[in-house]
Amino acid sequence: MISTIVIIGAGQAGAQAVDTLRREGFDGRLVLVGDEPHLPYQRPPLSKKYLSGELAGDRLPFRHQSFYDEHRVELKLGVRAIRLDPAVRLVTLADGEKLQYDRLLLCLGSDSRRLACPGVELSGVHYLRAIADVQRIRAGIRTGARALIIGGGYIGLEAAATCRKMGCEVTVLEMADRVMNRVVAPDVSQFFSEEHRAQGVCIVCNSRMASLEGNRHVERVRCADGSSHEADLLIVGVGAAATTALASEAGLACDNGILVDEFCRTGDAAIYAAGDCTNHPSLHYGRRVRLESVDNAFEQAKTAALNMLDRGVAHDRVPWFWSDQFDNKLLIIGLSQGHDQQVLRGDPSTRSFTVCYLKDRQLLALEAVNHSKDYMAARKVIAERTRLDPQKLADPSIALKDAV
Ligand SMILES: Cc1cc2nc3c(=O)[nH]c(=O)nc-3n(C[C@H](O)[C@H](O)[C@H](O)COP(=O)(O)OP(=O)(O)OC[C@H]3O[C@@H](n4cnc5c(N)ncnc54)[C@H](O)[C@@H]3O)c2cc1C
Repeated sequence: MISTIVIIGAGQAGAQAVDTLRREGFDGRLVLVGDEPHLPYQRPPLSKKYLSGELAGDRLPFRHQSFYDEHRVELKLGVRAIRLDPAVRLVTLADGEKLQYDRLLLCLGSDSRRLACPGVELSGVHYLRAIADVQRIRAGIRTGARALIIGGGYIGLEAAATCRKMGCEVTVLEMADRVMNRVVAPDVSQFFSEEHRAQGVCIVCNSRMASLEGNRHVERVRCADGSSHEADLLIVGVGAAATTALASEAGLACDNGILVDEFCRTGDAAIYAAGDCTNHPSLHYGRRVRLESVDNAFEQAKTAALNMLDRGVAHDRVPWFWSDQFDNKLLIIGLSQGHDQQVLRGDPSTRSFTVCYLKDRQLLALEAVNHSKDYMAARKVIAERTRLDPQKLADPSIALKDAV
């Protein structure tokens, strides 16, 4: 009998798992452990409206304290789980408390990759992952402040747009030859670069940072080619790595994430994992993936919760993701790796277009810039593996679902 479920990690996935477990009738002891001092909260606004101050802090949590009280969820916040002993089904917390479990769910998330160069210890160097980071960043933002963003990925560009809207002079340094190069097509990169430049953001590509300089506080970044960029504030957005130490030290298999099967089970029958921290099979694409997205954390946590109650449900989703930069919305559905053809639908100069990725004429993935209609249609077309006619697809006057 399952009388106690412990969840480690009180973020998107942890909060969703609690919700599903109680909704599905789990009536036993339910413990949610999180090392941040806050109720579980949404992260996307951290680089967008919470950073700008348009969204108040009390709008970030998914649920109020009363929800956890009413649903008898024991919240242990501001305390880290430091040891896991699967042989005796025991988790040890940093404050010494020991928690026995029948089922354990690891929702450990991911953590920002850190810079490793001279000067990283200077004040004014920030990462952007948690509420505490935003509070520190905000303290340095003022009209005319020089904000330097390292990394032109989603988080870097979202932070750049927000800092610019708040009156900073913003420069983005990107190592590759275009922004978001690992995740979007060149047309999409170019569109967003132009949008940023039109708003006064300076984007410097092919720029390799060598060191940070300053007297206690960061003052400039020196690049490998000898150029330098002055900064009052530096935000680093160079990617994230799955948080796995607790799992790997306990002997659970990890490889770019905690390895789970489609039922969100680890190699230990009592331990499940969900969200950013997992490396899991994508049934649709037939390979393992590690994803960092709200949708993935939400859906995997639901699946894991059901399976901890022995429901035998497989996680089978076509992933999706969004990013907001200035007044532009980028929606991405599917995974484009392995495509043999790229089709542009529409004209980027209209500020609304999509890029489609095909393999053997089947839609693998789609990037929609200010075009939610194509994004919505793509969900079904991808899931049903419909074969498309690339010529019709390139004609935006033909609805995506009719481009067969
Ligand atoms: C600034 C920012 C903007 C984003 N914007 C978007 C967006 O626009 N769209 C989108 O789809 N996704 C976005 N994401 C990604 C999305 O927020 C994550 O994919 C999602 O939060 C993952 O949920 P999770 O539960 O796996 O991890 P998290 O939400 O990160 O939660 C994990 C929690 O576990 C805690 N933890 C880790 N180890 C321990 C331990 N040993 N003991 C106790 N607690 C522990 C962590 O501190 C953290 O609180 C964004 C992320 C960030 C940081």
